Amino acid sequence: MYKLTNIRILAFGSSDVIESGEVLFNEEGILEVGQTVEGGGGKATLIDGAGMTVLPGLIDSHVHLGMDASPDPFAKMKDESPADIAYRAVQQGTQFLAAGITAVRNLGTRYNADISYRNAVQAGTITGPRVFAAGRPIVMTGGHGHVMAIEADGVDAVTRAAREQLKAGADVLKVMATGGVLTKGTDPGAVQLSEEEMRCVCQEAEHAAKTTAAHTIGTEGIKNAVRAGVTTIEHAYLLDVEAVELMLERGTFLVPTLIAPRLILDQPGSVPDYMVSKVEKIIDDHSVSFQLALEAGVPIAAGTDAGTPFNFPGLLAEELMLMASNGMSNQEAIRSATLMAAKAVKADSLIGSIEKGKLADLLVVEGNPLEDLETLKTPKYVFANGRLFQGASEKPVQEARPL
Ligand SMILES: [Zn+2]
Repeated sequence: MYKLTNIRILAFGSSDVIESGEVLFNEEGILEVGQTVEGGGGKATLIDGAGMTVLPGLIDSHVHLGMDASPDPFAKMKDESPADIAYRAVQQGTQFLAAGITAVRNLGTRYNADISYRNAVQAGTITGPRVFAAGRPIVMTGGHGHVMAIEADGVDAVTRAAREQLKAGADVLKVMATGGVLTKGTDPGAVQLSEEEMRCVCQEAEHAAKTTAAHTIGTEGIKNAVRAGVTTIEHAYLLDVEAVELMLERGTFLVPTLIAPRLILDQPGSVPDYMVSKVEKIIDDHSVSFQLALEAGVPIAAGTDAGTPFNFPGLLAEELMLMASNGMSNQEAIRSATLMAAKAVKADSLIGSIEKGKLADLLVVEGNPLEDLETLKTPKYVFANGRLFQGASEKPVQEARPL
C-alpha cells in the first residue's frame, strides 16, 4: 500500500486538479483520493510528492508490440517466428512502462502474439503494461499489413475472420479501410475493405461487447469505416467536413498518430523511398485534418503507432507535444492519453482517471505537466496495478519511508 502526500493530482475524475492532495492505493486499486485522506496508518509506504504531479498512467492508443521500429518493419517481420516477436514484445513492454505508459491498445501483431503477451501480463508471468489487443488485423487479400494479418474477402470470409479473432481472445478488432505507407505497392489513398465488409466486423465486435479500429488514410475509406460503425479511426490523414460530421454523429474517436509520418521523414535514406514519397504527399494534410477534427469537437485519443520506422516504445509525450503544437491545450492532450483513451476501449470504469475504486495505474512526474508536457518524458515513479515499476525510477522506493 502506498500513500502519496503533498502532491498535485491531475485526477480527470469528478475533480480535475487537486493541489497538495493525497492518494492512497494498493494492488486492489485506488482506496482514497482527496485533499487529505484517512487510512494507511502504519501500513502504507509514504511518498512525499512535494513539487511533483500524479496523473493517471498514460495510455498509448495505437502500438504494435513485436514490430521492431526498423526502417522496414514488415520486411523484418516476414521472416520472424512467433517466439522472435514474443521476446521483442516483452522487451518493449518494459520500455512502455519505463516511459509511464501503463496501458497500450495494440492494433496489429503477427501470430496474435500481443494476445499471448496480454495474458502473460495478466497472469503475472511477466511485468508489462495493461494490453488491449487486436491480434491479427483483418485485411483484404494483399491489403495493408497483410504480413501480420488475416486476409479475407467478402462478407462471409470477413465475418469468419472477425469471429476467429474474437475466439482467439481479441479485445478490439482492427480493419484496414485503405492502403498504407509501410506496405509496398498499396496506394495509401485507395479504398480497401468495403463499408459492407467492415460493417460485418463491427457487428461481430458489438455482439461480443468489443470495440473496433480502422486504419485510414484516404477520405473515402475514412467515411466507409465511420459509416460501418468503427469505434476509432486511426491516422485519418485526409479528413473533410463531411467525414468530421459523420464522426460527430456517430461518436467516432480519432487517433491521429501525428508522430509516425514525421519519424519517417526524419530519416530519409534509411527507410525505403516508396515510404518517404507516400508520406511527403500527405504529411501537410495530416495536420490540417487533425485541426479540423479538434475544432469540431471530435473525441480524440492519443497514440503513436509505435513499431513503425524509428517509432520506438515510449514516445507518447512527443505525440502529446505535437497535438499541443497543433492547437490542443496541454490538459486536453493529457486527457487524450488518459481518460479519452480509456473510453476508446470502454475501460473508463477501470482506468484513465484517479478516482476511488479505479485501478492504481499511476504516473508521478517532477513539476507540472499542465504547464510543460516535457515533464512527462522523465517519470519519477510509475505504478502499474498498484505496484511500483522499479525500472523507471532513479531513486526507487528506498527514498520513501513507512508512515
Ligand atoms: Zn499502426
